[in-house]
Amino acid sequence: MKDYKCIICGNTSFLPLFKKGEIKQFHLHKCPDCSLEFLYPVPSETVLEECYNISYFSKRTDRGYDNYFSDNIRNEIERVFKLNIENLGFKKLSKNCGNKGRSLDIGCAAGYFVNYMKNAGWDANGIDVSAPCTEFAVNELKLSVKNGNYLKTEYREKFDLITMWATIEHLRKPEKFIQKIHSDLKEHGQLYLSTCRTGIFNFKIFFSKNWRYYNFPEHIFFFTEKNLKKLLSDNGFKIIKYRTYGSGINSKYRFLKTICDYAAKLFFSGDMMIIAAEKKAGNQ
Ligand SMILES: [Zn+2]
Repeated sequence: MKDYKCIICGNTSFLPLFKKGEIKQFHLHKCPDCSLEFLYPVPSETVLEECYNISYFSKRTDRGYDNYFSDNIRNEIERVFKLNIENLGFKKLSKNCGNKGRSLDIGCAAGYFVNYMKNAGWDANGIDVSAPCTEFAVNELKLSVKNGNYLKTEYREKFDLITMWATIEHLRKPEKFIQKIHSDLKEHGQLYLSTCRTGIFNFKIFFSKNWRYYNFPEHIFFFTEKNLKKLLSDNGFKIIKYRTYGSGINSKYRFLKTICDYAAKLFFSGDMMIIAAEKKAGNQ
């Protein structure tokens, strides 16, 4: 991997960690300088396209969803993103935009968040690589959602808010997405992002290789809090809010899960993190 550079710190030598899953060629590596973890070789677009066929969203596996289009999954997803935007200061942003901002959800899947924003009065848009999902969003929910790769998509108007819920860990080139998001936002526009979290003070430590987010090859990058904040600030963003949540304790241990989830949030030790970042003024 001589030609590979750490996307956070530029380092060129890495520690191999382990391989896992059905496709054994992808090996988790760690940067010894900044602790970023990533799969190498980086899965090709063809491999990823095969992963995101309809079965990822409709058939239970250890990686995908039971039935992404069911009411249960939809309700759970809505519960989480409502909580997330509340924690990230959405009310204030919405007020500043007169409740009529323009938003884009990257990796929008079936468009549940786009639908929420549309109902809140926003000019709400979405994009996703999965055709079955975007067809559902367009045909069933009547949303403004495109099918395709965000990096290859041009938008005529800029956005007040761009969101990426649990999407950045799936990307082959996260830094390119952050750069394009920066140029697609209005001045003072905001990016809301959630992703799984590695690093210290983390419930992840109890699960080792069996951590719930070590899904290879769909999840390619695993960031620490520092990694993510550096990636954003190096690309013209100011961090506004940061929170963590989630312990990963199985819901069959309901009492333990409730306590651990509460502790994860209170002590910033969750294995998921959410961040709000603003495009810096004068930084086009
Ligand atoms: Zn690094």
